[in-house]
Amino acid sequence: MIEIDGSEGEGGGQVLRTSLALSIVTGQPFRLFNIRAGRDKPGLGKQHLACVRAAQQISNAEVTGDEVGSRDLLFAPQGTFPGKYRFSVGSAGSAALVLQTVLYPLLLADTESFVSIEGGTHNASAPPLDFVQHAFLPLLRRMGADVLHSAERLGFFPAGGGLTHTRITPWGRREPLMLHDRGAVELRAVAYVASLPDHVAQRELNIVRRHLNVDRLSIEAPRTMGPGNALCVYADSDHVTEVVTAFGKRGKAAESVAKEAVREMKDYLKSEAPVGEHLADQLLLPMALGAGGSFRTLPPSLHTTTNISVIRRFMERRIDVREDDGAYIVEVAGSAGS
Ligand code: AMP
Repeated sequence: MIEIDGSEGEGGGQVLRTSLALSIVTGQPFRLFNIRAGRDKPGLGKQHLACVRAAQQISNAEVTGDEVGSRDLLFAPQGTFPGKYRFSVGSAGSAALVLQTVLYPLLLADTESFVSIEGGTHNASAPPLDFVQHAFLPLLRRMGADVLHSAERLGFFPAGGGLTHTRITPWGRREPLMLHDRGAVELRAVAYVASLPDHVAQRELNIVRRHLNVDRLSIEAPRTMGPGNALCVYADSDHVTEVVTAFGKRGKAAESVAKEAVREMKDYLKSEAPVGEHLADQLLLPMALGAGGSFRTLPPSLHTTTNISVIRRFMERRIDVREDDGAYIVEVAGSAGS
């Protein structure tokens, strides 16, 4: 039984999600203790429980400790069962984080799966739909994985109510990912305003226009279950797309939201590394399960270093991180037989 201290490193939900995914893929049961020990509300939250339940369903796992507030979880998968699934995260949770949990086991299964997830599509501290569709999945496709992902409805914090659909085709020929340069960059921005006045989006885009050399600006006003605002700034480059997102909330000025996104995009543009902070931690798992490769990135976040150590608990993989001329090179050995 693999024992993981959930308070180590980043100490958040990612330790749980990576453990669930790799437990199913490798067939090794695990115990996770001290779950989110350092957080305001320690233990499993609803979001985490939704990930546990989804992982349980696709693997017919025996599970103990699967309740809100639990600090100790035992998970023993019985295999991978591809098929048609519908998961629900509940009010404010992120659909993308549930997808992150079940994606790799289902990709490595021998028949296709269709996964629908009800939850938020634009949540703080989780990959927004724009990022999943335009930054993450194109790179996964380059690694040979065929994943079709769409949203029938968008969902914002706190009401949620979004609905995503994903078709996961068994991973065919696994290709290494080599991503060291960006190439030419073009910027664009999308301001989402759901049940909020248009001027919120206008003010955000005015700030973006003032501080960044953007080619296109657009406003999306989706019909959703509750109000919400997110500003996504895209850097479309020859070899990669980066999406940074800032979220509006009650009492936060539209200008502050936009300045956050602008700052994050400026940080990304300042370095010439193609892989931003969030992509870096999310590429490790598919590379370790696929044919490996290497990428150039910003200084590794705690999510990245924590994910590396969780991956090492389940699989023997060489993952090196080294500094290189102001940026970092991450090199991941792939799976034999990929
Ligand atoms: P955790 O905080 O442990 O639940 O993990 C959060 C996950 O969401 C990590 O994989 C982060 O890289 C990812 N994430 C958080 N914020 C963003 C964002 N703005 N864009 C893309 N991914 C994000």
